[in-house]
Amino acid sequence: MAIAYIGLGSNLEDPLRQLESACAALDTLPRSRLLRRSSPWRSPPMGPQDQPDFLNAVACLKTELPPLALLDGLQSIEQRQGRVRERHWGPRTIDLDLLLMGSLRLVSERLHLPHPGIAERAFVLLPLAEVAESDLHIPGHGLLQELLDGMDGTGLQRLAWTA
Ligand code: AMP
Repeated sequence: MAIAYIGLGSNLEDPLRQLESACAALDTLPRSRLLRRSSPWRSPPMGPQDQPDFLNAVACLKTELPPLALLDGLQSIEQRQGRVRERHWGPRTIDLDLLLMGSLRLVSERLHLPHPGIAERAFVLLPLAEVAESDLHIPGHGLLQELLDGMDGTGLQRLAWTA
């Protein structure tokens, strides 16, 4: 059994509904249970600016799936919600990233753990802090609290779920 943290992002086709559907779908993955979800957070787009703001959230999942099977599950949810991969850092209906899985560090062709970029992105760390223990250690980066102390969250806005 492992605790996995999943980053969710959307900026197309009713992003709040996309995140709500994806959280519900996470709870239906085999041998897995959704423990908590953060608030949704609005943030300006990273990369190309000619696209809508993003909504991001983090889900905390208890799972018995091995890492690649969990990644398969996340990608099948992306497919079901009509994710179309266009340009890098471009708009998307749903993006699911496996941020962390316990204390696992892994570099393989399909999966990097912790997810690269986790430590620099306020739209990941702020929602992560809502669902993680305050002493969460991010392998290779240190304590979540210390990363948050050095983080500028300007431009991020915490929203509320409708479902
Ligand atoms: P993107 O959807 O643009 O974030 O990138 C998806 C690609 O990143 C897929 O080919 C995955 O195999 C790869 N990938 C590597 N590490 C991770 C991770 N921790 N979470 C999700 N996708 C990952």
